[in-house]
Amino acid sequence: MVLSSMSPHSIDPAANLRAISEDLNRALKEAGRKGGIVTITAVTKKQNPARILPVLAAGQRVFGENRVQEAQEKWPALREQFPDIELRLIGPLQSNKAADAVRLFDVIETVDRPKIARALAQEMQKQGRRLKLLVQVNIGEEDQKAGVSPREVDAFLALCCEQYGLKIDGLMCIPPADEDPAPYFALLAKSAARNGLAELSMGMSADYAIAAQLGATSVRIGTGIFGPRS
Ligand SMILES: *Cc1c(COP(=O)(O)O)cnc(C)c1O
Repeated sequence: MVLSSMSPHSIDPAANLRAISEDLNRALKEAGRKGGIVTITAVTKKQNPARILPVLAAGQRVFGENRVQEAQEKWPALREQFPDIELRLIGPLQSNKAADAVRLFDVIETVDRPKIARALAQEMQKQGRRLKLLVQVNIGEEDQKAGVSPREVDAFLALCCEQYGLKIDGLMCIPPADEDPAPYFALLAKSAARNGLAELSMGMSADYAIAAQLGATSVRIGTGIFGPRS
């Protein structure tokens, strides 16, 4: 990636997407993940529609936002032009926003406590919508990060299923900054495999290739596509 040497004017999001896609294919091949597919979630927080449109024009359809309200302001209009968009919530969810989130998003990657699990189950029932759900794991057990502790993942998944009748599709994590992410990605992959979960959302702009080698099924890329956020 050559972003550091580029001024904001010369950032070409569509070209960045192509380069990332090639990196991912190479990583899959190196890791022997034959037939593996890694979905790129283009993270559009703090990006305005004018910056998102070229990426849509280039064919990108999966997008991530970390705030419900910001997503509500941007995406309904873009969806009218591009109805086949898949929108993923990758930031923390408050239970009083569960109804809005279920209405707007297709995937919620940040299920992280019983109250949210219950609110999502109720709202999906009420709206007759079934979203794909991932549990966020606080993989480095950091105080400042959201997510279920790695030691409590199995019990939380059981609770979601037995108590709320929720089908959880996978796990998501953000490893500690400034550390080798590989052991954390490996731990998340192991937790998912142990629980029979297919989806692994891990890897961001700095470490998506490592995540792909270790089993990611989706990577969440913001600055690597759009350049620095304003
Ligand atoms: C912002 C964000 C990303 C994207 O980060 P980049 O380093 O810009 O690629 C990925 N995941 C989550 C949860 C985020 O909030």
